[in-house]
Amino acid sequence: DFGIGSWTARRARKTPHKTAVLDPGGRFTYAELHERVHRLAHALRGLGVRRGDRVAYLGPNHHAFLETLFASGVLGAVFVPLNTRLAEPELRHCLDDSGAAVLVRDPGLPAPPVPRAVAVGPEYEDLIASAPSDPIDEAVGLDDPCIIMYTSGTTGRPKGALLTHGNLTWNAFNVLVDIDLASDETTLCTAPLFHTAGLNMTCLPTLLKGGTVVLEPSFDPERTLKLVRSLRVTYMFGVPVMFAAIARSAAWAGADLSSLRRVSCGGAPVPPATIAAYLERGVVFSQGYGMTEASPGVLFLTGEDSARKAGTAGVPHFFTDVGIVDADARPVAPGARGEVVIHGPNVMREYWRRPEDTAAAFADGWFRTGDIASADADGFVSILDRAKDVFISGGENVSPAEVEAALGAHPAVADCAVIGVPDPTWGEVGRAVVVAAGPVEAPELLAFLRGRLAGYKIPKSVVFTAELPRSPTGKIIRRALREEHR
Ligand code: ATP
Ligand code: MG
Repeated sequence: DFGIGSWTARRARKTPHKTAVLDPGGRFTYAELHERVHRLAHALRGLGVRRGDRVAYLGPNHHAFLETLFASGVLGAVFVPLNTRLAEPELRHCLDDSGAAVLVRDPGLPAPPVPRAVAVGPEYEDLIASAPSDPIDEAVGLDDPCIIMYTSGTTGRPKGALLTHGNLTWNAFNVLVDIDLASDETTLCTAPLFHTAGLNMTCLPTLLKGGTVVLEPSFDPERTLKLVRSLRVTYMFGVPVMFAAIARSAAWAGADLSSLRRVSCGGAPVPPATIAAYLERGVVFSQGYGMTEASPGVLFLTGEDSARKAGTAGVPHFFTDVGIVDADARPVAPGARGEVVIHGPNVMREYWRRPEDTAAAFADGWFRTGDIASADADGFVSILDRAKDVFISGGENVSPAEVEAALGAHPAVADCAVIGVPDPTWGEVGRAVVVAAGPVEAPELLAFLRGRLAGYKIPKSVVFTAELPRSPTGKIIRRALREEHR
């Protein structure tokens, strides 16, 4: 019985009086967390939840999220965290797709129909208070399913990655080995727990180690800096846009960062200026590459490599193997482009109820990420493109990221994205969608690219726009751009 549902009992045995979770709704020691989790598990059982059933959660970061995760784990039920930013039809899709029997939700959010719903607040507290406190002893092992986590939906409809207790545990081991978290960690989690990084790169490793998790329901740069000082925060995880916003805020220059040992960042490429801002202030800046399906850590860059190899996503986590392969699944030479494939105990076995997607995602036991990368001679990997974004113009592959980097060097370009659009002669040609930083016309930008890029890579048209469609994690939603420019 080594499932993550057993973690609160194991921690309560070792560090009962340490603070496990702190948020605007309360502060709980490991002993208190343990008792609440088992009471909640009794209550969920009372609502009909049995082994294998799905328990969904919809709400911002709150201790009830972690309690529902652990209580589901205790019962061998499968936890389904839902993205609070989804519109009601999207939420319905996730609830129908997962077949959730119970939904625990924030009362301020939409209430899609489910067999049983519990509102966080007095109703939730009553359930816990009136349930028995004796510990539940249900055998739940590392191979049992633990959580269905939906992917971000950047390239299509979100897919449910079915992660086992073992997947989450091995990812937490990877984090502890490579991020070097200590038992006296105070970890601030402003990233949403319903995304894999907030939960798995931040909270679970801290709780495994016996540190304190501070949960914030939303992200605000100035408030983040205040909390770092007042709570003596030692570790933070976020997406690049969050760290950039903190370093840009008015409070940054005078902020007390003396407690902060390290921050880490992932989910999208990190601009070198963001990394430099933290390194200058003596904060170790680590960054990683991963995906929901890998629970999520795959590559990690930290320590002195952060500056030396800035711009790369680092080297594989300790327990994860990474290959960069050509179309025939043969490893490519250093410097050459290929698809990232991964293998490890943190990698999911299947997408929930999507056997075709699962079959397409694996080749000889390796998960095909759909991301294009290259490695340098030391093995440091740069993530270049998503395979789906690469387009073919006159028989030549064009990497949007390469063209965007060249275009972004023009001082009048604030932001840009390059997509392939249909063309009768070339099959597809590039179109640059540009957010201008000042007055500039298309011919000037195209002239700027000549001599810097091969002719077939140079977009045939430039369209100006006020803003690019980006996901909350900062990824450009190219499928929206492609639809708009079809
Ligand atoms: P979907 O699979 O539904 O299209 P998604 O792939 O964006 O959505 P996530 O699992 O949240 O969903 O994101 C994983 C992806 O994010 C990776 O496959 C990769 O494309 C991108 N990514 C993650 N980390 C980095 C990084 N450090 N640099 C560049 N891209 C990254
Ligand atoms: Mg994906």
